[in-house]
Amino acid sequence: MKLPIYMDNHATTPVDPRVFEAMRPYLTNIFGNSASRNHSFGWEAEEATEKARKQVASLIGATSKEIVFTSGATESNNLALKGVAEMYAEKGNHIITAATEHKAILDTCKRLEKHGTRVTYLPVQQNGLVDLDQLRMAITDKTVLISIMHANNEIGVLQPIREIGKIAKERGVLLHTDGTQAAGKIPVSVLDDNIDLMSISAHKMYGPKGVGALYVRRRNPRVQLTAQMDGGGHERGMRSGTLNVPGIVGLGEACALAQAEMPAESKRLAFLRDKLKERLMNSLDEVYINGTLEHRLPNNLNISFAYVEGESLLMGINEIAVSSGSACTSATLEPSYVLKALGAGDDLAHSSIRFGLGRFNTEAEVDYVAGKVIEVVKKLRELSPLYEMFKEGIDLTKVQWTAH
Ligand SMILES: *Cc1c(COP(=O)(O)O)cnc(C)c1O
Repeated sequence: MKLPIYMDNHATTPVDPRVFEAMRPYLTNIFGNSASRNHSFGWEAEEATEKARKQVASLIGATSKEIVFTSGATESNNLALKGVAEMYAEKGNHIITAATEHKAILDTCKRLEKHGTRVTYLPVQQNGLVDLDQLRMAITDKTVLISIMHANNEIGVLQPIREIGKIAKERGVLLHTDGTQAAGKIPVSVLDDNIDLMSISAHKMYGPKGVGALYVRRRNPRVQLTAQMDGGGHERGMRSGTLNVPGIVGLGEACALAQAEMPAESKRLAFLRDKLKERLMNSLDEVYINGTLEHRLPNNLNISFAYVEGESLLMGINEIAVSSGSACTSATLEPSYVLKALGAGDDLAHSSIRFGLGRFNTEAEVDYVAGKVIEVVKKLRELSPLYEMFKEGIDLTKVQWTAH
């Protein structure tokens, strides 16, 4: 086993060597522009991007004409939200999303609000899921789009997308889902789930960075978008710009591998994740899992270790790459807005760690990580006066603190 250990696969994933091999010719001798219609260099490139388009479509049960290639999920989310808001402005100006969405959704909504769009940010329940009755109540005759992510990037919880799709369909509202963490990890069917738009990204599924796709439904209903990038009219006018041929080939191969290997891979990752969880919970008290375990990605574990600072824990396990629930913004440590939306107090949010298992993690690594985390949490708690008071049975909520 080699150190450091990478267990932060929600942030990004390494490129699968098979994906790299598929890309290699398109980074060297097959260099044509897929929009060049007059010679074999262009045809070869086009053939490669069309194969990838089929591979992406197949993973989510779409048809290849419904796939628009982009630079990643951030761009796909921007294109979906801004493109719909602009195209359907006459129909209405209201969008519904959730408080726990990725910043690429929330910040896009903030921008749209400056231009007159009204946005409802649904709260989530303590388990991390949106309340379907609240969703139903939020829909008005001005609602043009619901954007709810499929799988959350911090806590891995899976929103009830099929039920949300049913509600959207009944009410004649389009449904976009940020599927970045779900695609390639769990089965997704845009038809069964009534998804109209879906964002995906290659680098979250063992493909290269800087390439992704937006699924745009063509039938029942046919979704239209106002392009956000003007130029040569590529991607059926929805996204201009010369196609990133090697990146797209990599995305396609990553989708094909994920589709073929998903049943075995998700079983293996769920086994490893559960092993990690069991070991931590059996050896440590006062640990809390953030978000429902029942509806969750197989590779995610987000745990708070009470009486321990996440940042100190990260430093103690510095040969293990994971994320903490505190986002370092400028000089201050902000607790994660996702954990706060679940109702976690600041201290529990600050003491949380996100483990994101991936294709290349081994059982030996999981054993090592479990042992190391247990050791460091115990050590840190030995230094914690609060933990000592807790062990002595003092009710910390009733302690009168003196101010300094
Ligand atoms: C990573 C991520 C994004 C951003 O994707 P990029 O391809 O890096 O732009 C958006 N949404 C979710 C849920 C993500 O995990």
